Amino acid sequence: MDPRHREWGIGRRGFLGALGSAAILPWMTRRSEPELLRPPNLVAPRVLRQVAGLRPFRKGGLRLELEQLGGRHLLHHYGHGGAGVTLSFGSAELAAELALTVQPRPTEVAVVGSGVIGLTSALTLLEAGFSVRIYAKDFPPGTTSDLAGAEWLPIGMDVGEGAAAEARFQDIMRRAYRRFERLAADPEWAVYRRPAYEPADAEVQLPKAVLDALSPATHLDRLPFPGPDRAGHVRETFLIEPPRFLPRLMREVLKRGASLQARTFTKVDDLLALPENLIVVCLGLGAREVLGDDRLEPVQGQLVHLFPEPLEYLVTHRGGYIFPRHDAIVLGGTWEPGVREARPNPLTQRQLLARHRRWFGL
Ligand SMILES: Cc1cc2nc3c(=O)[nH]c(=O)nc-3n(C[C@H](O)[C@H](O)[C@H](O)COP(=O)(O)OP(=O)(O)OC[C@H]3O[C@@H](n4cnc5c(N)ncnc54)[C@H](O)[C@@H]3O)c2cc1C
Repeated sequence: MDPRHREWGIGRRGFLGALGSAAILPWMTRRSEPELLRPPNLVAPRVLRQVAGLRPFRKGGLRLELEQLGGRHLLHHYGHGGAGVTLSFGSAELAAELALTVQPRPTEVAVVGSGVIGLTSALTLLEAGFSVRIYAKDFPPGTTSDLAGAEWLPIGMDVGEGAAAEARFQDIMRRAYRRFERLAADPEWAVYRRPAYEPADAEVQLPKAVLDALSPATHLDRLPFPGPDRAGHVRETFLIEPPRFLPRLMREVLKRGASLQARTFTKVDDLLALPENLIVVCLGLGAREVLGDDRLEPVQGQLVHLFPEPLEYLVTHRGGYIFPRHDAIVLGGTWEPGVREARPNPLTQRQLLARHRRWFGL
């Protein structure tokens, strides 16, 4: 089973244009004899590197709430699983709105963590008028966020139970979509609109909350790839390229006056010792150790990067996914719960190459 589907334990379908027919592009028309798209060159000598990272999966959903502790306000913002890039700007907007409710209103805010969640939080806080200092052990390019694929798709995370959690999730999705839509208009941000193809046999159900936030995919009688005839669907998505997106985000945050400080925290008292009265905790998986949040569970993901080629589509099938970026063709991927230390496995590399080759009939 495709590991991306396994991330839900169920699967997915849907076109995420979320948010209206304007997003449906002319190429998404039904055609029975499509022009075939070229597959990437899937051979071992093209491998640039293999990477592995730990997704900050949190049972019960991501944590986004204020807590008063030791005379300080902690604003928890972590646990985005396999969808941190996708949800980042959406949950960061909500985090900034929560920060504005803190009384008396602080002027200076500490953001702890500098992955995609820390940096998008810093940006939305700066936009809301706060001064921001970012504390972290690692900054890009040394975070998990730098390893993400990254397709804009909310999979590999827990939405949470109940109507309130579902409504919050949809709010986050809509906000995030709107932000990425704006960023896609400026090539500097390395956010690209791309068609994402999926065969029908990879199509399974997503939770209702996800489906409600997406709009339907367009059915294709035949997917436009060499290999066996396969029906499937296409939808529009964003491809976000972390090696350029995160530095651009960092530049934006610095331009707006944020400052950076390298710091490692081991316990909650270390956070409470910071001079700022409002502390936004964007530690990802680090919150497990620092806050003792045992709802966080690492899920390892391994990816193989091949030499880049000018291909402008994404494809996901039962054997994995392919994201052609400017720096690499990214082959995914694995979903390995409970692995505590991320480590690329050469066997996984061979298996991923073989699975993708097989799918294209090579
Ligand atoms: C292989 C793989 C593929 C993925 N693909 C996608 C995708 O296609 N789409 C998508 O949306 N998402 C994807 N993800 C998920 C995404 O990468 C994560 O959800 C996201 O990176 C989480 O961001 P974060 O800022 O919370 O955590 P991180 O990026 O891990 O940042 C955490 C920050 O906290 C700091 N920190 C942690 N502990 C401490 C400490 N004790 N003291 C001080 N600082 C600390 C770190 O140094 C870092 O700055 C993928 C992840 C992996 C591993």
